[in-house]
Amino acid sequence: MRSPRRPATAAALAAPLAAVLAGGCAPAARPSGAPAAATPAPSAAAPTASTTLTADETRMRDAVRAHYDASIDLLARAVDIPSGTHNLAGVRRVGDLFATELQQLGFRTRWVDAPAGMRRAGHLVAEHPGQGARLLLIGHLDTVFEGDDQKWVRQDTIARGAGTGDMKGGDVAMVLALRALKEAGQLERMHVTVIMTGDEEAPGQPIAAARTTLTDLARASDVALAFEGGSRSQISVTRRGSSSWTLEVKARQAHSAGVFSEGAGYGAIYEGARVIDEFRRTLSGQPGLTFNVGLVGGGTAAATDTSLTRITSEGKTNIIAPTFVARGDLRFLREAQKDSTRAAMRAIVARPLNGATSTITFTDGYPAMPATDAGARLVAAFDGTSRALGYGAVQAQDASSRGAGDVSFVAPFIPGMDGLGVSGRGAHSPQESVSLPSLRMAAERAAVLMSRLSREWPRRPAS
Ligand SMILES: [Zn+2]
Repeated sequence: MRSPRRPATAAALAAPLAAVLAGGCAPAARPSGAPAAATPAPSAAAPTASTTLTADETRMRDAVRAHYDASIDLLARAVDIPSGTHNLAGVRRVGDLFATELQQLGFRTRWVDAPAGMRRAGHLVAEHPGQGARLLLIGHLDTVFEGDDQKWVRQDTIARGAGTGDMKGGDVAMVLALRALKEAGQLERMHVTVIMTGDEEAPGQPIAAARTTLTDLARASDVALAFEGGSRSQISVTRRGSSSWTLEVKARQAHSAGVFSEGAGYGAIYEGARVIDEFRRTLSGQPGLTFNVGLVGGGTAAATDTSLTRITSEGKTNIIAPTFVARGDLRFLREAQKDSTRAAMRAIVARPLNGATSTITFTDGYPAMPATDAGARLVAAFDGTSRALGYGAVQAQDASSRGAGDVSFVAPFIPGMDGLGVSGRGAHSPQESVSLPSLRMAAERAAVLMSRLSREWPRRPAS
């Protein structure tokens, strides 16, 4: 079993490019429409992990610095447009703001509406056709909170406000990096596609339909870079997948005096408790696997409302409860781990206590982004870039320490790396803030990395 944590080492840094080309690196074409079982990374390619800057790269760095103050102003404008996921007009306005910026850099932009009835704003897509590896850059426009009373407040090098870190700051870092590439004369030749989703924090359902645009773009790209919040020394190339489950138990209703008897049985709550406790005893402790129980209810009646976050239940102490319901999540490192865990959970559910019947249903959320050799090469490339810019070494972050993200949806198609965005505090809280110097660092590292990947990451043959 692979460790989810793959620190970049000198050994992981790049075989010489000549050897790469001699070795051949084209992945086998797969039938159109069929996702690969694992990330179909070219096997031998490794971008230069040079720890010195070329003259062009120095120009990129200087261009980032020249536009740093203007980018802070752009971030302030973006943060001052409230764009909670359910504020469809606000999300669209933030999309328009970034579309204008990208158009100025030569991108062709379009707005992709969410499917009718999904009640989401849709996504911004911007395309810049060119040569070299096809880069897919991922951001999002929505915020967790509505943001009406979380406007931009700057205090020296810190700025507070909804989306400062997650992830309008990352979006601005992406745009600033592209501007630097343009000023250094590099963007002209490059093939770059940008998607900024409008519902990352509360994806529309069904989630596969809400992410069709993203997965379609991934199929037409070679490598993905996502600009969620990051840190100076860590980057993500593995993320756990997430899904949810619902346990429903039915049992005989009877007088409590008869509980445990052959005729009355144990009731639904004892059966629900048995199942949940057996999950914990038999399945906990596996590396990378967690399954939290988030919500339970039981009694003479127990029903989940349409939000799936509230269970209304009632009952009496002298009645053997006929109903029980529980909801939880399931996070995993690989799809195979998800499948085997679900099979084990179903087997536990299939052995109910006397008088009860249990059923469990699973709902897919985010796919897993497993450890791959291509991911390790991305870390090595980013590590070299960071060192060249004077920001020091970067290592892969443990998948277990991050939540799920949009980058996970590209994992079945192309290698991806997340955490290229800004650093801050209080993500998903009303105290969200960003460290402004991290915007400059993020943009410098992204610009140089994109330039290197564009030249050296292999383009997949058309399938
Ligand atoms: Zn985010």
